[in-house]
Amino acid sequence: MSNNATVKHSSENPFESMMSRFDEAAKILGLDEGSYNVLKSPQKAVIVSIPVTMDDGKVKVFEGFRVVHNANLGPSKGGIRYSMDVHLDEVKALAAWMTWKCAVVGIPYGGAKGGIKCNPRELSKGELERLTRSYTDLMVNVFGPDKDIPAPDMGTGQQEMAWIMDEYSKLVGHSTPAVVTGKPLVLGGSLGRVEATGRGVMVSTRSALAKLGINPVGTTCAVQGFGNVGSISAKLLQMQGMKVLAISDVTGGYFNPEGLNVEEAIAYRDNNNGTLEGYKGGKKISNEELLELDVTVLVPAAMEDQINNENADKIKAKLIVEGANGPTSASADAILNKKGIMVVPDILANAGGVTVSYFEWVQNRLGYFWTEERVYRRADRVMKQAFEAVYQASQKHTISLRIAAYVVAIGKVAEVEKLRGKFGV
Ligand code: GLU
Repeated sequence: MSNNATVKHSSENPFESMMSRFDEAAKILGLDEGSYNVLKSPQKAVIVSIPVTMDDGKVKVFEGFRVVHNANLGPSKGGIRYSMDVHLDEVKALAAWMTWKCAVVGIPYGGAKGGIKCNPRELSKGELERLTRSYTDLMVNVFGPDKDIPAPDMGTGQQEMAWIMDEYSKLVGHSTPAVVTGKPLVLGGSLGRVEATGRGVMVSTRSALAKLGINPVGTTCAVQGFGNVGSISAKLLQMQGMKVLAISDVTGGYFNPEGLNVEEAIAYRDNNNGTLEGYKGGKKISNEELLELDVTVLVPAAMEDQINNENADKIKAKLIVEGANGPTSASADAILNKKGIMVVPDILANAGGVTVSYFEWVQNRLGYFWTEERVYRRADRVMKQAFEAVYQASQKHTISLRIAAYVVAIGKVAEVEKLRGKFGV
């Protein structure tokens, strides 16, 4: 999702946003100073300059990052983002969120994130391939199926993962599908991986609505972002009987008070260069308007910092389910809490993606592939159990679901860090 898809404002630093929640949870847990200092800093941050020969023969140098926040629970895991907005503090925050996310859902991974500062829409397929392969070459000592396992994120998908798998395999001299997840099915991908994040958003929405005593059938919602996460969340929420009143992408928002036909919108996007430009299923609105619509459920599934101290007060939804990473800035938390809005935080709500990434990695290592039904059943179970654990922690400490998720996650990572000693791999 590029920048104009989203709300413009004085943005908060995403790493500081992450840390302010971390601090709150650390206080509740009574985390000792040593553990606090270890867990707040990434274990490793690699910055590379990636030279790429462009189609016109000129050489351009791109900036690339990989941050391993923590590898206490297992090899570090997290996506790679291609966007002009990528910068070190963003990647550091996203890497830490991966640590907490994997811990919340109880999968044996630490957290990492990567990114390349580029606009993938402006690069040809050949340029993207050369960029991805060169990045992999430079990261060969960082990546590894037992070390650090990338996956798709904003601006990347199956093709990039296939190139990473191929390049890494060439470098180590044997086929290594488990070095990356989110691969195409024929190359060792998992059934259900493409839908996994959106499906987890849907399962989390159902769990939260049940706690609020709201029947999903006929309940209204708005979804910001129409990439993999937003479009599939919207589709699956509609399949649950919910009414999707608005969607949005790089071209703005589309609103229909009677409910949009999400499947039709997806088909439109797929035949229209990947955007909703010119879509007639709803009236054109802005992203600000979408966030402030009078709906029961709001799913921000675009990028960071969309709900902030400038618009949080205007949000009318009763429930926010965070499909994106970091869509709510820390300064908005208190405002939303005061308004009594339930927020299913990113590190819980969008963890379905990394959960099925884990299943993909397990299948790659077993050399045995699961049915879609098995993937869904197990992923749904993980998501429901994680929601319940976070909900119970929020009740126990009388805190928001967000801080409860951090308490659950940090508690686990700190316990493992104590057992292993301060200086894990
Ligand atoms: N990029 C996704 C996320 O932010 C998936 C990460 C993964 O599967 O490793 O959760």
